[in-house]
Amino acid sequence: MDINYSAGQMAFRDEVKSFLAENLPEPISRKVATGKRLTKQDHEQWHAILFRRGWLAVNWPRDFGGPGWNAIERNIFEEEAALAHAPRIIPFGLAMLGPVLQRFGTPQQKDHWLPRILRGDDWWCQGYSEPGAGSDLASVTTSAVRVGDHYVVSGQKTWTTLAQHANMIFCLVRTSREGKPQQGISFLLIDMKSPGVTVRPIVLIDGEAEVNEVFFDNVRIPVENLVGEENGGWTCAKYLLTHERTNIAGLGLARAALQNLKRIAYAETSGETRLIDNPLFASRIASVEIDLMAMATTNLRVVAQAAAGQAPGPESSMLKIKGTVIRQEIDKLTRQAVGPYAAPFLPEFLEESEQADPIGPPHAMPAVQKYFNNRKLSIYGGSSEIQRQIIAKAILEL
Ligand SMILES: Cc1cc2nc3c(=O)[nH]c(=O)nc-3n(C[C@H](O)[C@H](O)[C@H](O)COP(=O)(O)OP(=O)(O)OC[C@H]3O[C@@H](n4cnc5c(N)ncnc54)[C@H](O)[C@@H]3O)c2cc1C
Repeated sequence: MDINYSAGQMAFRDEVKSFLAENLPEPISRKVATGKRLTKQDHEQWHAILFRRGWLAVNWPRDFGGPGWNAIERNIFEEEAALAHAPRIIPFGLAMLGPVLQRFGTPQQKDHWLPRILRGDDWWCQGYSEPGAGSDLASVTTSAVRVGDHYVVSGQKTWTTLAQHANMIFCLVRTSREGKPQQGISFLLIDMKSPGVTVRPIVLIDGEAEVNEVFFDNVRIPVENLVGEENGGWTCAKYLLTHERTNIAGLGLARAALQNLKRIAYAETSGETRLIDNPLFASRIASVEIDLMAMATTNLRVVAQAAAGQAPGPESSMLKIKGTVIRQEIDKLTRQAVGPYAAPFLPEFLEESEQADPIGPPHAMPAVQKYFNNRKLSIYGGSSEIQRQIIAKAILEL
């Protein structure tokens, strides 16, 4: 296994860098770099730019309109995009549903939905979690009862990221209560404009409403929106989760956050000592940077295995935990770097249009927002406790 980049891969990195320099709109990258809120239109604009270049569906095979990259090329692209302050590609249609349809969809479903995902015609969200089913996903109770050529869906999903923008949701629904819980689940595509669908925002600790509750009250969905077999949805669900957990370490995002922290720490402020001259603070930055370098090597090892055709196993759980710890530590240091200005957190200063003088330095409010927002990293995509259990079972054989 070779974990060094080849000359071809280095040339590819240069090509990605120049593409980003020439095509990433400056107002969007400025918002990402300065921690301002992105609008739906910002995401759609970046989606369209990547679509035109053929670099949107990074993990789709060429036959379906992907760039045909291997795991190393994907990794290079994702790292460079984060360092250039590109918005993250919204994963629900492209990284999650797309691969499921390619594997389990009917020819009609593939022909209908995949081009729409690429063109950005639909904004998808993920309806897995429910109030009583998160880590224990097999407990979902939202029911879908077959009546003629429709399913009638009733129940509730929760923590549904960006459902406020979505017109479509893919859901795990219960179609049978017989046998093991996993054997009575189906995978259904639901039009959010259907009568009986209600979306209610959940406001989080950072003041943002990026997650929602979604309610279904006797919602009628045509049977052709079932993906895979009835009661065979668990297979789709598990397949999707393996895709959700790729690039889970968030290496590029961690590097971009560390760059930002160092910029703050090295800044000269008249009459004050630079933060980097405080030996305690400097040693904490050094420590997290060393951890990040070590994680980058592990990440490259896992990516090299994936490029050689081996599916990443429990190593992705190690990367998820380590990536989370590192990013949350960088967020903590960045918040500490703004000192007392972290206390009066006012989310309105994250609006691009906000003209009032910010409280403290301009990076103060974004530092607090990022600190609060990234608490989620240890919860979604499988909590840290669940990842530790996977490691215990699969690596330590406990
Ligand atoms: C910001 C955010 C966005 C999200 N977006 C989406 C989305 O778009 N779509 C979607 O479907 N879901 C989404 N989720 C939901 C997410 O997947 C769940 O929150 C997660 O799976 C945990 O489930 P839970 O919240 O029900 O907590 P629980 O499963 O109830 O867990 C509560 C606590 O108990 C621990 N725990 C649970 N079981 C065990 C165990 N067996 N051993 C040890 N400890 C355990 C957990 O680690 C956690 O600390 C999102 C969550 C967040 C926070």
